[in-house]
Amino acid sequence: MSTPVYATPLHALTDDARVDRDAAMTAVADLLLALGHDPDAGDLVETPRRVADALIEMLSPEPFEMTTFPNDDGYDEAVVVRGVPFVSLCRHHLLPFRGTATIGYLPGDRLVGLSKLARVALHHARGLQVQEAMTMQIARTLETALTPRGVGVVVEAEHLCMSARGVRTATATTVTTAFRGELAHDDALQARLIGARTS
Ligand SMILES: [Zn+2]
Repeated sequence: MSTPVYATPLHALTDDARVDRDAAMTAVADLLLALGHDPDAGDLVETPRRVADALIEMLSPEPFEMTTFPNDDGYDEAVVVRGVPFVSLCRHHLLPFRGTATIGYLPGDRLVGLSKLARVALHHARGLQVQEAMTMQIARTLETALTPRGVGVVVEAEHLCMSARGVRTATATTVTTAFRGELAHDDALQARLIGARTS
């Protein structure tokens, strides 16, 4: 007999109660002042509010339920969602990094809706992130919710902290991978996932 639909709730990564919008606006105004700009100057008056709201939005993932359902037909090949676009915020510079995530898994007893694979990536992108950690978090969430035979996550992103300042490597992208379970030892499938990011 097949098991029913499971729903694993993914909660917000930040505690809403700890987000203080007014304090954030004041802090942005102070930052402008510290950088030599008058936050009360005409066209800067609304900037602290805009910056605070943009940051709060980028740091607040929408909670959602990771619904899974029984693999009644015994599908046993890889399921891959390619090129999920995301924007995240670099934990080291508070600057955006953006790119795509490719997510695949080898099903066990359960399957997950394809849109939920994309939602997992977007969920973990909304936060103060390090690309390496985000890649592992996506893989871990899928392992926990699905207990698949294997999971593969490939993230490719451009970091503004690299392209807009410092070494100014405008076209450089950073690729991170997480391969778990049977995918940890499947070179062909790994190559397919890594290659998939640009196609
Ligand atoms: Zn950075």
